[in-house]
This record gives sequence, C-alpha cells and structure tokens, in this order.
Amino acid sequence: MLAAEQILKKHKLRVTQFRLDVIDIFMRSGHALSSADLEQDLQDADRITLYRTLKSFEDKGIIHKAIDGTQTQKFAICEAHCDEHHHHDEHVHFHCMKCQNTFCLDHVFVPKVSLPIGFTMKQTDMIVSGICEKCD
Ligand SMILES: [Zn+2]
Ligand SMILES: [Zn+2]
Ligand SMILES: [Zn+2]
Repeated sequence: MLAAEQILKKHKLRVTQFRLDVIDIFMRSGHALSSADLEQDLQDADRITLYRTLKSFEDKGIIHKAIDGTQTQKFAICEAHCDEHHHHDEHVHFHCMKCQNTFCLDHVFVPKVSLPIGFTMKQTDMIVSGICEKCD
C-alpha cells in the first residue's frame, strides 16, 4: 500500500494536510467509511470540504463507493490500479449484520453474469451480508 502522499501525487492532486488526513483514516480503517465516520476522526471537519474531497477522490480513482444495501453511503480505498477514468473494484462487499461495518473483499470477485440481448452492463455490485470475522 502506498503512503498517503504518494497516492495524492500519483493521482495528480495537490497535497494538503486535510487530504492526507482523509486518506490516512481510510488506510488505517479495516472497513468502509461514511462521511459521518470521517467527521468523527477529523480534527476540524468542514462538511463541504469533506464532501468535495470525497467527490474528487472518487473521480480520481482513490476511493470507491462500497455499496452495502444500507441507506448510508460508504467509501473505501481503491485498488492500486484504479485511475481517473476507470475503477477496477470488481470485488464483493461484505456487510456485517452485527457491527454494521462493510468490508472490501479484495480477492473475492463479482461473478460474471450474462444478460439477455438488448441489455448493456455498466456496473455490477455484489453484497454479501453476514457476520464478520471479528463478530464471529
Ligand atoms: Zn476504484
Ligand atoms: Zn462484524
Ligand atoms: Zn470495495
């Protein structure tokens, strides 16, 4: 895993303390985070700045949406080869029904599905719900 500063440089974003802090929190967390989770961990979290930061991180391929079937929008750090034009996070997201945390299962890939003629696939999300290793 790259250090926060290298991640920003690689994705051509100016290095600011705020951006470093946000990436750091993502890297230290073992699970996906909502903006409310991040606000708790940041010293002076201005909601607008945080929102913009998450948006640009998602656009640049630093974080991706970890869709877990809940109402809360969560994000997780991307795989190393995501970039501005393409995300490659085709892994399963696991939602723990006990701690409510959502995990990227980086090595568990979303299975290929074949669609009827006339349907075009743009994105596939797969959520597995259950009990995580910590809650087991
Ligand atoms: Zn990605
Ligand atoms: Zn759990
Ligand atoms: Zn993920």
